[in-house]
Amino acid sequence: MKRVSLTPAVFHLPERVNKISETYGKQPIVPRGPALKPILDRLRKKVSDQLDVSDTHETVVFTAAGSGAIAAAVGSCIDERGILIIANDVYGHRQADFCEQLGIRTIRYTLNPGVKPDISEIEALLREHQPGTVGMVHGCTSVGLLNPVKEIGELTQKLNIRLMVDAIASVFVEEIELNNWHIDTLICSTNKGLHSNPDLCFCVVEKGLLEEISNRQGRIPYLDIGKTWLAQKSGGHPYTINIRALLEFEAALDDFIERGGLSARIGMYQDRLKILRDGYQRLGLKAFLKEGMAQQNIGTALFLPEGVNYDDLATALAQWDDGSEECFEIYSAQGELSGVVFRIFNMGEYSLKTYERFISALESCLKQLQA
Ligand SMILES: *Cc1c(COP(=O)(O)O)cnc(C)c1O
Repeated sequence: MKRVSLTPAVFHLPERVNKISETYGKQPIVPRGPALKPILDRLRKKVSDQLDVSDTHETVVFTAAGSGAIAAAVGSCIDERGILIIANDVYGHRQADFCEQLGIRTIRYTLNPGVKPDISEIEALLREHQPGTVGMVHGCTSVGLLNPVKEIGELTQKLNIRLMVDAIASVFVEEIELNNWHIDTLICSTNKGLHSNPDLCFCVVEKGLLEEISNRQGRIPYLDIGKTWLAQKSGGHPYTINIRALLEFEAALDDFIERGGLSARIGMYQDRLKILRDGYQRLGLKAFLKEGMAQQNIGTALFLPEGVNYDDLATALAQWDDGSEECFEIYSAQGELSGVVFRIFNMGEYSLKTYERFISALESCLKQLQA
């Protein structure tokens, strides 16, 4: 039985990525010296090319899952004036929690989950508190919605404030215009939209800011972007870096590029969403939406129907057996929304047929539970 992951965390990956561990196992590469440099150079160039930032930003890679890049960014890219963080989902709060734990001056602009941030309120807070940076999340995975990064970027540009964006759930699967949206630090992981394993993360940082931070010490020794950038631009890394993961990162990027890059990736997700969102509508499931906020490409947050308990639904789908050899793992909501909302993600390497079968399975399981 194949367990189809409808979660945003771990799912089936392209064959090209899976193959790396086999070939790498036959000939591991020492993560030092001449073998490392070409790999890092190729990777950093491919990321810059795909994000269209070759002239303006640089990529710095760390061995960690996505949250490691949040830590690296807040530990390295915020000056003594501190940060205002838009916290309208779980990950905005995570960014703010990390800052507070590091003793950074943090102004937390808290909204109910998924509520669109108000530009004039933010402008008033920025004028009052004078932080040097605004932090926010682009793809808010806990509510399935996209924050208006472009609008916030216009404001930070006008006030000459740095902008830091958690794009872990949106990089390589949503449109992101780093330069037009005035993003100084983009927080990314290789898992999620790029379809590699969750063991590397990276930050894409504006060159002027990189120069500035490489002249001062970051707050977290192991995750210091300035120090790591100085090592990586000359082909090294300050500590051991996971080379197998770097090669998987490259295989995922090559796969992404050969299959047509961002527009093709978005198209693939839109085809899945057409099947899924039409299906939800037919089954009478209501999506979690907020005024002025667009839905993410990676998945959909849905209200639990009357009388249906999340655990029962998840168990029924995990035990699903219609002879097609596929069962389904779905995802609960996080924090205050659990018990109200559940989430279905459409990430990874699955065929459209799989999503059609899922909608039938969902229909049967809901009928059974509501009977
Ligand atoms: C998944 C996710 C994270 C956390 O990434 P991990 O790899 O689980 O550490 C952070 N921010 C957003 C927006 C995410 O979707």
